[in-house]
Amino acid sequence: MAFQLPALPYGFDALEPHIDAHTMEIHHGKHHAGYTNNLNNAIAGTPLEGMKIEDILANVSKHGAAVRNNGGGYYNHSLFWEIMSPNGGGEPSAQMNIAKAIDRDFGSFENFKKEFSAAAATRFGSGWAWLCTDSNDKLFVTSTPNQDNPLMDVADKKGTPILGLDVWEHAYYLNYQNRRPDYISAFFNVINWAEVTKRYNDANPGAMK
Ligand code: MN
Repeated sequence: MAFQLPALPYGFDALEPHIDAHTMEIHHGKHHAGYTNNLNNAIAGTPLEGMKIEDILANVSKHGAAVRNNGGGYYNHSLFWEIMSPNGGGEPSAQMNIAKAIDRDFGSFENFKKEFSAAAATRFGSGWAWLCTDSNDKLFVTSTPNQDNPLMDVADKKGTPILGLDVWEHAYYLNYQNRRPDYISAFFNVINWAEVTKRYNDANPGAMK
């Protein structure tokens, strides 16, 4: 079964004014659709057909550039739509495990926000900023170039991404032009902390009981 472009969980205009409808429509309907189609073409007739995307990415160095770029693009955007919400933003509520883990590993939400925003702002060219959890249930911030992500065996720092921000120009240029820091700041108004804490809990079933 081929990979499918997931439906957006909200309307194109739902994240306005932070992310505009035109950007969302092109980003989902053209960019993400393109990665999905190109991934399917790249794996057609190979042993990768039918594998989980996470398992493909874990050994991505064994496959060609088309699998790395489009497999990453497929996975990263599928996560990105889910970790935003028109009802999101602000800080995770204190009883969420992710709030406790952020305080534990960064000292405060403000420290986390600073570190994540700096990772997103300083990623040169195209790429992503990530909040991840490692195999010892410790959170860390990292960034990756192009459509790479921390699930890939080629990543500098490996872990399970639970929050990601697309800093390709296609993600913000129509509304923010060259003002990437304004886009990063606006992203904090739409983060779906309920989804992030769910992903954190799924990655660490024994954590923060
Ligand atoms: Mn993108």
